[in-house]
Amino acid sequence: MGIKLKYKIPVARPYISKDEEELVLKTIRERWISSQSPYVKEFEKEFAKWLGVKHAIAVSNGTVALHLALLALGIGPGDEVLVPDLTFASPANMVILTGAKPVFVDVTREYWCIDPSEVKSKITPRTKAIIVVHLYGHPASMDEILEIAREDNVYVIEDCAEAHGAQYKGRKVGTFGDIATFSFYANKIITTGEGGMIVTNDDEVADRVRLMRDHGMRPRYWHVVLGFNYRMTSLQAAFGIAQLRKINMLIQRKREIARIYAEELQDTPGIKLHPQMHWAKCVYWLYSILVDPRKFGATRDKVMEYLDKLGIETRRFFYPLHAMPAFKNMVTQNQQFPVSEYLSNHGLNLPSGPEISDEEVAYVARSIRRMHQEVFG
Ligand SMILES: *Cc1c(COP(=O)(O)O)cnc(C)c1O
Repeated sequence: MGIKLKYKIPVARPYISKDEEELVLKTIRERWISSQSPYVKEFEKEFAKWLGVKHAIAVSNGTVALHLALLALGIGPGDEVLVPDLTFASPANMVILTGAKPVFVDVTREYWCIDPSEVKSKITPRTKAIIVVHLYGHPASMDEILEIAREDNVYVIEDCAEAHGAQYKGRKVGTFGDIATFSFYANKIITTGEGGMIVTNDDEVADRVRLMRDHGMRPRYWHVVLGFNYRMTSLQAAFGIAQLRKINMLIQRKREIARIYAEELQDTPGIKLHPQMHWAKCVYWLYSILVDPRKFGATRDKVMEYLDKLGIETRRFFYPLHAMPAFKNMVTQNQQFPVSEYLSNHGLNLPSGPEISDEEVAYVARSIRRMHQEVFG
């Protein structure tokens, strides 16, 4: 099987070096291939240390991480869980899988994450938890969320799948809520191909997660709770250890890419740059812009077509959850999500993989500028 890339500049090509190859080969040669492996324990230990939390528990992917996080907090039928309307769909799917109901909340125009003022109005006596998603690498407003959660006695789950190393007021996301989850899918900030991590400072919650990850079985063949096989393999963990050793460099590179995009695009009419609030350190998982068709002269979709022809891959923003067939029956009354809809229709993810060169970033940005000049003659 040869490699044939459709795009000259892909949206998110992972950074992989000799270190990953060597550690994966090492674990294979040592016959550590399942989850029962010192490499999994090492990856968990190092991740917990890097983040500054007590427990890190490796799992098969970021979606099952959310499933276990919800179950470990006791969420199930009859409960409601607040979920931002603009996100990848895993949080909503996993809430439904537990038997609870996702309640969608609009996001903010300023930084695209769940809107604290909307959160308050969606809380009912059935609300058990709030899932915050640090979207496209930008942290949610944690103080406001935590204050509401405390007042109304609900849990906070942070979905950090897109925000490894992002900071809120100088502290890393994933350390604020009752529990947090990460993804190591191929296009995330660090990767294990497929993979995920659950983190918490709560010993009991961590213990429940470990139990359910491993068939709810303790000791062997004795099942104490409903369980799953959501374990990570040694091959993934070995890969992850090598990735984690360069996570700070990878985050630095994301921010450097963002700086170049911002510099090149800042004066382009109709282009709104990826935000970074004064209290935030954004890690720009995918550097993203908003296209205002009236000022720019073309719609977001036309920009995508234009760049596609130049061999530049882009992605539209996520669709609003409330609008999709899978979740339509979850939306009651005449709930409105104007911001989520606006962002979904105007937002564009640009190539952001750490291997992209400075020249390529500048080329993408200049192509967007050139398009604007062409349509305005
Ligand atoms: C990628 C992602 C997930 C899912 O992670 P997987 O490892 O692909 O299952 C969950 N939530 C968000 C916000 C994501 O971006």
